[in-house]
Amino acid sequence: MPQRYVLSLDEGTTSARAALYNESGERIAMHSVAFDSFFPHAGWVEQDALAIWKAQLEAARLTISQANIAPQNIAACGITNQRETTVVWDRHTGQPVAPAIVWQCRRTAAFCAELAASRHSRLIEEKTGLVIDAYFSGSKIRWILENVAGSRSKAANGDLLFGNIDTWLIWNLTAGKVHVTDPTNASRTMLMDLETGEWDDELLAIFDIPRAMLPAIVPSSGRVGTINPELLGAAIPISGIAGDQQAALAGQACFRAGLSKNTYGTGCFALTHAGTKLPRSTNRLLGTRAASANATAQFALEGSVFIGGAVIQWLRDQLGIISNAAESEAVAQTVSSSEGVFLVPAFVGLGAPHWDSNARGSITGLTRSSNKGHIVRAALESIAFQTRELIDAMEADSGEIITELRVDGGAAVNNFLMQFQADILGKPVVRPSDVETTALGAAYLAGIAEGIWAGTAEVESFWRVERRFEPAMSDATRAGLMDGWKAAIARTRG
Ligand code: ADP
Repeated sequence: MPQRYVLSLDEGTTSARAALYNESGERIAMHSVAFDSFFPHAGWVEQDALAIWKAQLEAARLTISQANIAPQNIAACGITNQRETTVVWDRHTGQPVAPAIVWQCRRTAAFCAELAASRHSRLIEEKTGLVIDAYFSGSKIRWILENVAGSRSKAANGDLLFGNIDTWLIWNLTAGKVHVTDPTNASRTMLMDLETGEWDDELLAIFDIPRAMLPAIVPSSGRVGTINPELLGAAIPISGIAGDQQAALAGQACFRAGLSKNTYGTGCFALTHAGTKLPRSTNRLLGTRAASANATAQFALEGSVFIGGAVIQWLRDQLGIISNAAESEAVAQTVSSSEGVFLVPAFVGLGAPHWDSNARGSITGLTRSSNKGHIVRAALESIAFQTRELIDAMEADSGEIITELRVDGGAAVNNFLMQFQADILGKPVVRPSDVETTALGAAYLAGIAEGIWAGTAEVESFWRVERRFEPAMSDATRAGLMDGWKAAIARTRG
């Protein structure tokens, strides 16, 4: 039998990527095609859904030609995507009726504030596991129906379709034949009952969204259709779907309760697998669906930090005290400690577990001898302190001890940061050899569905440690630093 391959389409916030894996789970090719975001008003973020589709298709074609394999040997395709971003299009013409509203877009913040203050707030948060916020898709769909002339009646007649980017790509890949999403994406719309995994009539009524425009919710691992052969040269089965953070959890081989990962990108996204038990957060984390490789519902707790690696961009672009992100590692090590300097990057408020949109950043503890080494070090440490707060909240919510943290994302290459993270957590931090975990997770889900891999146990065996950082800090030092961090946070609160 010829070698079979798995194609992964990894559609992110700034670029669309594609990757090909062989039967051993090794990546043999990868390509990325960037697309633009638009900022038409303060706090608004839009993208062109057709440009996203074009970029994704081009990335897939470039990846297949780079790998130099026959498309007929691609046995499965998995899709992963920026979550919450909302597209509404005409089912007859395939044309979007409005620009895609990106997850970062705040245009529905006022509506969400009203909703949070209304009698519906408890029902919404209990049913969805989410905190009411403009981040999620529900208020974005509603905005389009309210603001695009004629769209409400068309939606009621079934002429308009809604999708997050997974749904939009699959609809285009199948020439309009398949309109589906998976529970990980649907759990971010604020329209799905987290426990049952179904669209909820009460939620649809609150947001005034007709059910006719919603995709069917199908398992994250399982065949939903085949790619139109004119696009990539073969009728490749589409067999895996997951939102980016849940795909990364799968790509880190976190398939069991208690296994946790943190992605260090612009922001940080920590997820801990909660098994088959519906999580209820009392520490302002989000309850969400994990990508299940079988038919059972699986859950995760999620916490996000808004400014993670972005604090390093700020040092570079706003302060000009480093010339590139990688340099932060060496500059931080020109001093032996931050010597009481704390930098709280609450530039856009604070995310979980504080959820304080009025907080603003600070640098505290400066003395006459403080230098750029202390500030750069404090910036890197802030990423680790914020992550520690998420992990503390996860342990408090789940009542279980997280034994190690698996890491990925652009800033996870920083060895100083990873060692400090292990020190401040008092837990090992483990970096895998393939840090493209998002693309990998979608490939796993698709490959398992098509029988290329027997199940999660087989793909777990592919997961390789590149480096393990053991905690080496004394308990007293760690406690002192955490006290200092908490005091610094208190000073930034709105
Ligand atoms: P995203 O997917 O959010 O665009 P990436 O995973 O590509 O992000 O990571 C980019 C982020 O990582 C940037 O904010 C950058 O400042 C940070 N970063 C990149 N390299 C390093 C490094 N060596 N040390 C610290 N931060 C880094």
